[in-house]
Amino acid sequence: MSDLHRARPNKFRRDRAHREAHVSPPERLKVKDHYDVIVIGSGLAGLTSANCMAKQGRSVLLLEQHYILGGLAQWFKRSGGHIFDISLHGFPIGMKKTLRKYWSAELADNIHQVKSVRFINPQFDLDTTFTREDFTRILVENFQVDHDRVIAFYDHLAAMNYYDRDTRTTRDLFQEFFPGRTDVWRLLMEPITYANGSTLDEPAISYGIVFSNFMSKGVYIYHGGTDDMINKMEKILVENGVDIATKALVQKINIENGKVTGVTVNGRFVGCDCVISNAGIHPTIKRLAGPENFKPEFIAELDAVRPSSSSSQVYIGLKEGESIPFIGDLVFTSTHPTYDATALTDFKVSSMTFSVYYPEMRPEKNRYALVASINHLLKDWTSLSDEEYQKAKDEMIDLAVETLERHVPGIRSKIGYLEAATPRSVEFYTLSEMGTSFGTKFEGLKVSMELPQQIGGLFHAGSVGIIMSGWLGTANYAVIVSNQADKYLQSVKKS
Ligand SMILES: Cc1cc2nc3c(=O)[nH]c(=O)nc-3n(C[C@H](O)[C@H](O)[C@H](O)COP(=O)(O)OP(=O)(O)OC[C@H]3O[C@@H](n4cnc5c(N)ncnc54)[C@H](O)[C@@H]3O)c2cc1C
Repeated sequence: MSDLHRARPNKFRRDRAHREAHVSPPERLKVKDHYDVIVIGSGLAGLTSANCMAKQGRSVLLLEQHYILGGLAQWFKRSGGHIFDISLHGFPIGMKKTLRKYWSAELADNIHQVKSVRFINPQFDLDTTFTREDFTRILVENFQVDHDRVIAFYDHLAAMNYYDRDTRTTRDLFQEFFPGRTDVWRLLMEPITYANGSTLDEPAISYGIVFSNFMSKGVYIYHGGTDDMINKMEKILVENGVDIATKALVQKINIENGKVTGVTVNGRFVGCDCVISNAGIHPTIKRLAGPENFKPEFIAELDAVRPSSSSSQVYIGLKEGESIPFIGDLVFTSTHPTYDATALTDFKVSSMTFSVYYPEMRPEKNRYALVASINHLLKDWTSLSDEEYQKAKDEMIDLAVETLERHVPGIRSKIGYLEAATPRSVEFYTLSEMGTSFGTKFEGLKVSMELPQQIGGLFHAGSVGIIMSGWLGTANYAVIVSNQADKYLQSVKKS
C-alpha cells in the first residue's frame, strides 16, 4: 500500500519534555496579575467551567498548554483538503440540552441523531438506531429474548441509583437478566467497551447509567465538525470576558496554608482565589499541586485510581470527488468469536470501529472521511523504539484499510490520505500522563470530588469515572464543579 499518501514520521520524540522546552517566554503572556478563577486546560470540562464562572460574574483566566483549544475535542487538517475529528463524537441526546443551557442555542441546534449504528461480527450482522424501541425489537426478533425480560431489564437499569451502593458487576447483571447469552452480552456491552474501555467486571451501576443515557434515545453528533463547535465556544468565552492564553503551560499550583494562591505558568506567577484544573486528576495532584500538600490517605486513594483504557485511530481521507455508499454512521467490526474486553485491546487487532463522516458533516467541503478506532493500552506503545513504533502504526493502517476493503469493496483506490494516532499521541497532546481517552475509571470521581476538602480553592473538572466520561459527562461534571467553586468564592468574599 505504499502508493497511498500517509503521514511522515515525526523527527523528534514527542513527550512532555518537548512541551516544556517549547513554552513561550513569560513576558509573552498577556494576562492580569490576579483573577477570581484560573482554569487549567481547555478540554470540554475546562471550557465549560470557564464559561460558567464568567457567566456568574467571576474574572476568569483560561490557560491551555497547546496552541489550540479543545483538548481531546479536537480536529486536524491535512493538505489535499482533508479534515479529521479526533474524539469521534457519538454522545447521548443530553448534549443538546447541555449546549443550550450552558453555551448557546446555536450550538445546540447543530446536534443531530445518527441514522444507523452497525455491528458486524461472527455472532451477528445488524444495524440499529440505538433507541430503546429498536433494541427491544432486535433483542426479541433477532435474539429471541422474551419481550417482558427486555422490558424488565430496561426498567431495572432506569431505577438504578449511584447512591444505592450496589456491589454487583456488569457480568452479574447480565447473568441475572440474560443467563449464558454471550451473544446478547456482546450486543449490550461491545459499544460501551469500545467507547470507554469498561469491562464486565466493573460496577453494574456504571454500566446502567451509561446504557440508560446512551442506548435509549439514540446516538447524536455535532454537525459542522469539532472545529466549528470549539471555535464558537471560544467566541462565546471572549464575549463573556474570559481571558484566554494558549501555549501556556501551568507548571505549578501555588498553595499556602492549605489554600491555593495562584499558578505558575510559563515561569510566571499569576494569583487567584480558586483553581479549576482540567489537567488529569493524577497530574493535578502529583505534578502541579504536589503530593506533600495532601493527606497520605488521600494520595493512597489517588494511587488506586485506574486510568480508562485508551485508543488508537487510523484517519482515512477519501480523494476529492470520491464517494462511498451509506454503510452506517458507526460500524463496529470484529473477527473475534465472542465478546472479550481484553481481546479488544490486543495489539493484533481483531476488532475496530469505523466512524464514517459523510458530506453532511461539513456540507461546504463535500468530502468523505473515516476514522477507525481501536482500544489500546499506553504501555503497549511506550515500550517500542521509534522504529518499532512507526512500523506498528503502519501495520495498523494496513489492517484498517484491509478491514474496510472487506466491507466497502474498492475503497482502497479512493483513499487520498492515511494517518495513525496512538495512546502516545493522546499523552503528548493533552499531557494526560496515562494516554487515556476517557480519563479515569469509576473510582476517580470520588477523589476528584474530595479535592477541595484537601486544599481550599482547588477543584478538578474532567473525565473521571465512566458515568462522567465522554463529551456530555465531562461538560456536565464541569457545571457541577463550577457551582461548587462559585460557592467557595462566595465564602472567601464573606470571610
Ligand atoms: C479517540 C477518542 C475518541 C473519543 N470518542 C468519543 C465519543 O465518541 N464520544 C464522547 O462523548 N467522547 C469521546 N471521547 C472522549 C472525550 O473526548 C473526552 O472524554 C473529553 O473530551 C475529555 O475532556 P476533558 O475536559 O476531561 O479533558 P481533555 O480533553 O483531556 O483536556 C484537558 C486539557 O488540559 C490541557 N492541559 C493539561 N495539562 C495542562 C497544563 N499543565 N497546563 C495547561 N494546560 C494543560 C490539555 O492540553 C487539554 O487541552 C473520545 C476520546 C478519544 C481520545
